[in-house]
Amino acid sequence: MREECGIFGIFNNGNGSKKDTSIDVAKLTYFGLYALQHRGQESAGIAVSDGENILVYKDLGLVSEVFNEEKLSILQGNCAVGHVRYSAKGKDLWKSSQPLINEHKGKTFVLAHNGSLMNSDELKAKITQETNLSRSTTNTEIMGSLIAERAEEDIEDAIKSVAAQLKGAFSLIIMTNKKLIGLRDRCGFRPLSLGKLKDSYLFASETSAFNLIGAEFIREVEPGEMIVIDRNGLKSFRILPSRKGAFCVFEFVYLARPDSDIYGENVAFSRQKMGQRLAQEHPVEADLVMPVPDSGRYTAIGYAYQSGIPYGEGLLRNHYIGRTFIQPVQSIREGSVKIKLSPIKKILEGKRVILVDDSIVRGTTSKKLIKLLKEAGAREVHLRISSPPVMWPCFYGIDTPNKKDLWAANHSLEETRKWLGADSLGHVSIKGLCSIFDKIPADNFCLACFDGKYPI
Ligand code: SF4
Repeated sequence: MREECGIFGIFNNGNGSKKDTSIDVAKLTYFGLYALQHRGQESAGIAVSDGENILVYKDLGLVSEVFNEEKLSILQGNCAVGHVRYSAKGKDLWKSSQPLINEHKGKTFVLAHNGSLMNSDELKAKITQETNLSRSTTNTEIMGSLIAERAEEDIEDAIKSVAAQLKGAFSLIIMTNKKLIGLRDRCGFRPLSLGKLKDSYLFASETSAFNLIGAEFIREVEPGEMIVIDRNGLKSFRILPSRKGAFCVFEFVYLARPDSDIYGENVAFSRQKMGQRLAQEHPVEADLVMPVPDSGRYTAIGYAYQSGIPYGEGLLRNHYIGRTFIQPVQSIREGSVKIKLSPIKKILEGKRVILVDDSIVRGTTSKKLIKLLKEAGAREVHLRISSPPVMWPCFYGIDTPNKKDLWAANHSLEETRKWLGADSLGHVSIKGLCSIFDKIPADNFCLACFDGKYPI
C-alpha cells in the first residue's frame, strides 16, 4: 500500500500586511516537501509566483536530489506550491510530475493534487480543446484542462464548477499569479491542513510539514470546502454539499508520518492504541514483541505495553536504499528482503517472537521475513497485523494491487498462516480499529479496502 502524493503551499503576507522579507517561500516549500517525502519518492516540484509570473522547477528524484541552493535561489516570489509524487505507472514519469501547468484566460495557473478520480474517462470526454486533450492523461491534467476551458468564469468559479463534476478523492492546491487555493473532495479521503507562519498561510497534506518549519496548525480544510488566500486575506467557501466524512483510515495505520496529527488524533499515539487493541484481541504467550521497522514500531510498543511482554528490535532496516535498485546477484536474490531488513541473531535466538506489522497485501514480504527470523534462531513467530485483512483495492489515491493479487481476498486466515509459516496470525478487527479514536466517529472513516463498502 503506497500513498501517491504529498502537497504543500504557502502565501506570504496572506493577511494583507506587507510582504515579510524573512519568508523565503521556495525554501519553506522545499522543507515542507522534505517532511512529506514519505508520500512520494518518484518526483518533486516547486512552482513560485512573484505576483505576475509563475516559475516551475520539477524533476524525477527525491526532494534533496531535485533541488539545491542554486535552484531554490532562482525561485523567488511571495507564493509557492510543492508536490512529491509516487507513481506505479512506470512511464511518462516526468510528464506526470507536478505541479502541473495550465492557462486560464491567458494567465498561468498550476495544480498539485493528491487523490484519484473515478470518472476520469467521462471527464476526459468533456474536454473539447485539442491542445488540452492531447496532453491530458492524468487525473490532474484532466482537472487542469477542464478549469482552463471555463474561460467565461473567473478562476474561482471555474474551479467550483469543475469540482462539482469530480467523483473521487482530491485534495488540491491551485496557484494563480495572485492566489493560493486549497480544496478537498466532499468525503475528505486524503488529508489537507491549513497552517500559519507569522502572517503567511500554508496548506500541507500533513502537519509534519508545519512542525518542521515552525508553522502553527490552524485546522483541517473541511471536506467540500475551498479556501482562497490572497493579499486581502483568507476566504472560505463550501463548494460541495456537506456529507459524512470518509477519511482514509489507512493514513493512521501506515501512510501518514507518526508526528502528524489528523483531525486532532496524533498518528504515533493512534498506532500505539492499535497495538494495545491488537494485544487485547489476539493475546499469545511469547518472549519478545518486535516491529517490522519502521512502520510497525509504535504498534509494537502498544502491544508490548498492553501484554507486559518485553519490547525489542530484532530487525534492522537499511534506510539508504535509493530510488533505482540494482537487481541482486544470485547469492542474495532468494533473501532479497535482507537488503532492506537484516535480522539480529543475538536478539532472536531461542525466542518466541510476536512480529507486529501494519498490513498483509500480497503477503510475499511477510513470508520472507518469517523465514528470515526463523533462520536467525527465532523459536516461534506470531504475526500480529494492525489492520483488518485487505480484501479490496483502493480507488482513492492509494496504490494497491488488483483484487486477484490481494492475498486475503483469495485465502482464509488459516491458509494465510500456513503459507506464511507463522505459528499464529491475528489481525485487528474493523470494530477494534475504529474504537481507538476519541475524536473521529467510526462512520466518518473509509474502510473500503477491508469491507468493500465504497463511499463513492
Ligand atoms: S479504500 Fe482503504 S486505502 Fe483507500 S481510501 Fe479507503 S481506507 Fe484508505
